[in-house]
Amino acid sequence: MQTTTALDALIADLRALLGDDGVSTDARVRERASVDGAKMSPVILELLPLGLADVVAFPTTAEQIAGCVAAAVAHGVPVTPRGKGTGNYGQAIPMPGGLVVDTTRARAIVEIGDGWVTAEAGATMVAIEAAVRETGQELWMYPSTAQSTIGGFLSGGSGGTGTIVHGANHQGFVVALDVVHAVADASLLHVDGENAQAYVHSYGTAGILARVTVRLEPLQDWHGFYASFDDQHTAFRVLREIGRLTPAPRLVSADPAAIAEALPADDALPDGRSSLRAILDPAALDAATALVVDAGGTVEDLRDGPQASLKLSVLSYNHPIEWLQKSDPGTYVHLEVGGDALVDRLDEVQAVIPGGLLHIEAGHTVPIGMLAGVYEGPERLASVIAALGELGVGVHNPHQWNVDFEVERTIALAATTDPSGLLNPGKLNPDYAGPRKGAIR
Ligand SMILES: Cc1cc2nc3c(=O)[nH]c(=O)nc-3n(C[C@H](O)[C@H](O)[C@H](O)COP(=O)(O)OP(=O)(O)OC[C@H]3O[C@@H](n4cnc5c(N)ncnc54)[C@H](O)[C@@H]3O)c2cc1C
Repeated sequence: MQTTTALDALIADLRALLGDDGVSTDARVRERASVDGAKMSPVILELLPLGLADVVAFPTTAEQIAGCVAAAVAHGVPVTPRGKGTGNYGQAIPMPGGLVVDTTRARAIVEIGDGWVTAEAGATMVAIEAAVRETGQELWMYPSTAQSTIGGFLSGGSGGTGTIVHGANHQGFVVALDVVHAVADASLLHVDGENAQAYVHSYGTAGILARVTVRLEPLQDWHGFYASFDDQHTAFRVLREIGRLTPAPRLVSADPAAIAEALPADDALPDGRSSLRAILDPAALDAATALVVDAGGTVEDLRDGPQASLKLSVLSYNHPIEWLQKSDPGTYVHLEVGGDALVDRLDEVQAVIPGGLLHIEAGHTVPIGMLAGVYEGPERLASVIAALGELGVGVHNPHQWNVDFEVERTIALAATTDPSGLLNPGKLNPDYAGPRKGAIR
C-alpha cells in the first residue's frame, strides 16, 4: 500500500490524463489486475495472493502509456505493466501494490512494412497476425496464448509457433521498440538493434514497452496435420523427423495418449492413441505422411486455412499441461525440459516423477517440452530436477517470478532506466541463483 497522499495525487493525475473511464480503484478491477496464470503452479498457488494493485490505469495509446509511467514516477509509486495476464508464474503480480498499467486498450496496429509490423504494446498476437496476413505476410512467431499481447509476449514469453525456424523471441524477432523508462518526465524512447534486445524477457523491469516493431516473413499456405500412433515412443521419434523437414514446419507437437485424451474432443485425436499435430507447408505433406505411415502410424486429418493452424497453436507448449491439470485438478506440477534425451531416453525421463507424462514440441535445435507429474512438494521437485540433469535433460524450473534471463545485463540496464526501482518491483533479484531460461535450448 502506498501513502494516501502520493496515491491520491497519482490518481488525480491519471484521471486528468485518461479520463474517468481510464482509471479504476474498484476492488474487483484491482483484484483482476493483480493475478496472472500463476494458479498453474502448485508451488506459487500456495503463496497467493502475492500483491494487490492500488489503482489500475487503462491507457489507449503508446503516448498515454508513457504518461502513466511519468505520473507514477512523479509520485514515487511503483508501476507494474500488464498485458492479458496469461504469464503463468506471477510475473505480472504487483507485489508492492501501486499502479498497474493495463495496456490492452493501447492496441493499434500502426504500420505494416515489407518484413516488419509496428504495433502498440496491447495489440494481441492474433490481431497482428490477421492484419499482416492481408499484406501476404505472417509473424515470425507467436505463443500458444495467441490472445496475449505483443508487449506481454516480448516481456514475459519466449517462443511458440514459428520457433522451429526462428528460435526464441530474443533471437532477432524484435526490430525496434518505443520504451518508457522510470525517470523524471518519462517519455517514449526509440531503441533498435542490440539496444532493443536488452528489454526482451525482462518483465518490464528495465522499461515498459509502449510500441514495438517485430519481424514478418512471406505468408505460407499452412496445413494442419493430425496423426496418431500406438505408442508414444514412435510419435516422439516421428516428431523429431518431421521437425527437420524442408520446408520447415511452423509447429510440431506430440503427446502421450493420457495427455491427448485431456485435450478438447476431436475426431483427429482418437482415444488411447498418442497424438502428433503439425502445421506444415504443402511441399512437406508427402514427406510427413510417409514418415508417419512408415512408422506404423495413421494420418487422421488434414485441415487448411488460418483457423486450422491457430487451433493447433493453442494446443501447443503449455496448453496440453493446462488441459491435463483441468482433467485432474490439484494433481500435476510441470517443468520445462529440452534435449534429445526427451526422445532417446523417454521412459527414464518420465520415470523421474510419479505419474510422469511428457508433452513435446519440435524446437529450434532440439526437442523441447513440458514434463508433468504428481506434485509432492518443493523438495521432491528439486530432486526431480537433479535426476533430469543426470539424464542429460536441460531443465528450467518455472515456478518462480524472478527475471531469469540475462539477469546481470538487465540489472545493469535498470540501474539507469529505473534508478528508484519502481518498475515491477520484486522481479529483478540480484541474488537470484536458480536455473536460467536458456537451460532448455
Ligand atoms: C496455458 C499457457 C500457455 C502458454 N504458452 C506459451 C507459449 O507458447 N510461449 C510463450 O512464450 N509463453 C507462453 N505462456 C506464457 C504467457 O502466456 C506468454 O508469455 C504471453 O505471451 C504473455 O502475454 P500477456 O499479454 O498475457 O502478458 P502478461 O502475462 O500480462 O505479462 C507478462 C510479463 O510481461 C510484463 N509486461 C506485460 N506487458 C508489458 C509491456 N508492455 N512492457 C513491459 N513489460 C510488460 C508483465 O509485467 C509480466 O511480467 C503460456 C502461458 C499459459 C498459462
